[in-house]
Amino acid sequence: MWVQKTPAEQVTSELRNKRIKLRAAMIYPALLTLIITIIFTFTYPRLGSIRNGGAFLVPQDQWLIQLPSALISGVLMGVGTFLLMMYARESPKITLVCHECGKVKVDDGFTSCSCGGHYVDIKTMKWVEDKPLFRP
Ligand SMILES: [Zn+2]
Repeated sequence: MWVQKTPAEQVTSELRNKRIKLRAAMIYPALLTLIITIIFTFTYPRLGSIRNGGAFLVPQDQWLIQLPSALISGVLMGVGTFLLMMYARESPKITLVCHECGKVKVDDGFTSCSCGGHYVDIKTMKWVEDKPLFRP
């Protein structure tokens, strides 16, 4: 059943969510940077020559020449992705849960539930398992 989080639990879960968001905003851009650097170093200059029967990969003697610009492109894309992930607006949809019956819905402006209870932001609630009535 859904129960109200204590103020301390709300702060803790907000901090945890921020930590998860920051970690994702660092890991995905780093991977993107690596992938873009590899693609631009080893493949990009020759992509146009595929049509003319040229090799797909860049010759080894060109790798070091290609690396700096590929690295710069990768880092710029990574930084852009990081900023986008950190500061992009979150979804305006707020999920609500009924205090009494546990029904869940997207916020539609009505906070009264048909059971007589009222809907509250699900971020302020937590799920706990019901205790069994008796133990065999
Ligand atoms: Zn209800």
